[in-house]
Amino acid sequence: MTNLTSQNWQVKDEQYVWHSMKPYNPNATMIVQKSKGAWITDTTGKRYLDAMSGLWCVNVGYGREEIAKVAYEQLLENTYTPLSVGHIPAVQLSEKISELLGDDYVVFFSNSGSEANEAAFKIARQYHQQQGNVNRTKFISRYRAYHGSSMGALAATGQAQRKYKYEPLAPGFIHVTPPDTYRANEDHIEDPVALPSVQAIDHVMTWEMSDTIAAVIMEPIITGGGVIMPHENYLQGVKAVCEKHGALLIVDEVICGFGRTGKAFGFQNYGIQPDIVTMAKGLTSAYMPLSATAVRREIYEAFAGSEEYDFFRHVNTFGGSPAACAVALKNIEIMERENLFARSEELGTVLLSELQEHLKNHPNVGDIRGKGLLIGVELVSDKNTKAPLDIAEVNKVIGLCKDQGLLIGKNGVTVAGFNNILTLSPPLIITLDEKDFIVEKFTNALKALQQQ
Ligand code: PMP
Repeated sequence: MTNLTSQNWQVKDEQYVWHSMKPYNPNATMIVQKSKGAWITDTTGKRYLDAMSGLWCVNVGYGREEIAKVAYEQLLENTYTPLSVGHIPAVQLSEKISELLGDDYVVFFSNSGSEANEAAFKIARQYHQQQGNVNRTKFISRYRAYHGSSMGALAATGQAQRKYKYEPLAPGFIHVTPPDTYRANEDHIEDPVALPSVQAIDHVMTWEMSDTIAAVIMEPIITGGGVIMPHENYLQGVKAVCEKHGALLIVDEVICGFGRTGKAFGFQNYGIQPDIVTMAKGLTSAYMPLSATAVRREIYEAFAGSEEYDFFRHVNTFGGSPAACAVALKNIEIMERENLFARSEELGTVLLSELQEHLKNHPNVGDIRGKGLLIGVELVSDKNTKAPLDIAEVNKVIGLCKDQGLLIGKNGVTVAGFNNILTLSPPLIITLDEKDFIVEKFTNALKALQQQ
């Protein structure tokens, strides 16, 4: 079976594998055979620099032997213990996560980002109930954000094209317009609470009645919706409004966490401390499925009553398995040893400014933005009107990058025609030469588009 020719792998793949997003994703025409560092090799032997780290997740790069070894050793040492009991790697990892978060948090483990958010919603609702606030059940999230594929996480998602075929989803989610430094510039406003994008949340809380709101969920920077940058004070404004109305703030760090934005967590760029933090992807750099929902100790302690019904009635068979926790610990150890958070910040700043320099006069490049090694390039048909570039043209750029051995992403929100944002989220270990490779091929692709 492993000796199939490249073409045969393609045929069998077509026959049996149901890929997510297949017709949408112009990269879905290859079968990957191996990966190392920032590079993947397909069954034809062609190599690509993976400037998306898979799905924004392989933060320490592919093929790290020491992580594989830790998984192997832990599987032999203790294969499985549920977290209704306890095991050593979970204790160590929870303590480490709390330390990285910079405050006193208690950690609940699951397997995926969606599940981490589902756990956060349930914890938030039950927390309020245990405080006697039985009406606090609603969540506020933002249009354009993605929070996962399960019925609650999808309800929180603000991208209608992902939702309308699966409705009704979980009720109780209200959406507001997100901040957007490119399309809705709020730069002239200094007071965080006066920002229109913060006022939108304040108004919803007031009009819905403050004491019906459980929490706000947001990413520090909207990633899957197209790397949409907030005003620098936005998160502080949202936190203040949550405090004013007695709602919790859940920060979704599934992509922004673990160095992607140049800090351990994305919120650390913005001077706030969330009540609940969800994380996945970079937590293990995708070497094993693992996610976490970290809650401030006061929230956890509200569950510590002696009554039969007071505990958090949420079980996860595989969440926080010993091997996954051991892998996460080794992954974090590598990030710290190799200074990858700082590296992401430094290299990201250089990558961003070089792309801005090379592409500033390109007629279809409306905006180049990001933080750390998280970059979005918004393509427009007209720089004055900011009309989104047609999706066929956007796909051409992706194809032109791919032809040159560079894999990039495309994000946005189809319903509003905003499917026009190219994304870069390379492994945090890329070298300066690899950074140059990204700049060169990406710039070439956009120039070729212009000449067509
Ligand atoms: N939140 C965010 C911000 C995400 O980007 C994603 C996945 N891309 C999720 C949640 C859901 O994670 P998963 O696919 O692991 O369920």
